[in-house]
Amino acid sequence: EVRVRFCPSPTGNPHVGLVRTALFNWAFARHHGGRLVLRIEDTDAARDSEESYEALLDSLRWLGLDWDEGPEVGGPHEPYRQSGRMDVYADVTRRLLAAGHAYRCYCSAEELETRREAARAAGRPSGYDGTCRDLPAERIAAYEAEGRSPIVRFRMPDEPITFDDLVRGTLTFTPENVPDYGIVRASGAPLYTLVNPVDDALMGITHVLRGEDLLSSTPRQIALYRALADIGVGPGTVPAFGHLPYVMGEGNKKLSKRDPQSSLNLYRERGFLPGGLLNYLALLGWSLAEDRDVFTLDEMVAAFDIGAVNANPARFDLKKAEAINATHVREHLTVEEFTAACEPWLRAPHAPWKPEDYDPAAFAALAPLAQTRVTVLSDITDNVDFLFLDEPVHDEQSWQKAMKPGAREVLATARTLLGEAGEWTADALKAAVLAAGEAHGLKLGKAQAPVRVAVTGRTVGLPLFESLEVLGRERTLARVDAALA
Ligand code: GLU
Repeated sequence: EVRVRFCPSPTGNPHVGLVRTALFNWAFARHHGGRLVLRIEDTDAARDSEESYEALLDSLRWLGLDWDEGPEVGGPHEPYRQSGRMDVYADVTRRLLAAGHAYRCYCSAEELETRREAARAAGRPSGYDGTCRDLPAERIAAYEAEGRSPIVRFRMPDEPITFDDLVRGTLTFTPENVPDYGIVRASGAPLYTLVNPVDDALMGITHVLRGEDLLSSTPRQIALYRALADIGVGPGTVPAFGHLPYVMGEGNKKLSKRDPQSSLNLYRERGFLPGGLLNYLALLGWSLAEDRDVFTLDEMVAAFDIGAVNANPARFDLKKAEAINATHVREHLTVEEFTAACEPWLRAPHAPWKPEDYDPAAFAALAPLAQTRVTVLSDITDNVDFLFLDEPVHDEQSWQKAMKPGAREVLATARTLLGEAGEWTADALKAAVLAAGEAHGLKLGKAQAPVRVAVTGRTVGLPLFESLEVLGRERTLARVDAALA
């Protein structure tokens, strides 16, 4: 059985890199009919927060990335928050020490630094030099007498470590490049380097899919897995690893958590659809087919192949994300779904109008026209605010742009002809504005610009005549009158 895990640390706000990793694990699990474990790596009390934990779960729920074991759903390996598993790590540490796979290291930070400097100066590898690997008992006693508190260090094997990365192919790491490393702090707090592979082993994880930034920890973890197998922890097998490509942001620099563009909340607040955002994030390393940028999650699950992930860095492109989202809004929602999805942006705090002025029927009448025009759902507010505000928004720039010389005259004629319209339908209103334009030698496009800005306050928007029809005779004429006054 395929068992994968998504194991975020609850620090800060969820970001798109994290979501991409979650998505690939989820799609892999679903494709293979396997299980996705959500494990919370909250062993760093100084950086973790309950708020981030809540935000993580809420984000995954919003995205629709469900998990089969973990917080809120339980499972056979509870608890799934590492802060609740400290006794497990203490026990494993004792056994690793007893078997000689780990040792206590008494080197002080200053000593380590001095030796690192010397190694660098001599052009030797500057990783841990093995000083405490095989300390005689009297040295240990002397250090203890000095009151030094040791860390626990894992003893790396002296031969190279080779593995087949699911994305990058065969990789080999030589011992000089992978020195012994700390697994427990002097305070007794276990480190990521220990708890992550220990839980992967105990939870029977078969595939580890994660970002390329963690590639350098993989040889260490493989060695630790083998040691765990030796002391009887876990299934005795090493999982397969696949490292997802870096995501590059602006200026071809790695997209960082601090980049505003990388915050998941930004996309949520702007009204990306979960399916649109996930579709875009899938493209950061994978594609359904050569010429297919837009797909549903079901299609992704059916076709997902970790071996087809591209090892080259992916470029984050907000414009493309928006274009893909717009396609999802247009093609993957029914009008009813679209209308319902817009709701939050038609109410406080997003909507600038008085709550009692919101008219769902008026919105529903224009929703089909809006659906083909919005990129993100938050666009809807500006598109329909003319319906619910007492007066249209007024922005001087749009006004100047539409009220070119001659515009007043055509607007005045349009006012007369609109006022004479027999029935208040889009067709009749279009005929009126067309005739007003002809009277001044203007095409429809030019003639309707001042009408639009007078009524909606904007130079672009939904199809004008349908908008006027829904707004109604009285309010339309009053706004044109106000503009002419
Ligand atoms: N908690 C680690 C992180 O957020 C997980 C890394 C891993 O997948 O092994 O970076």
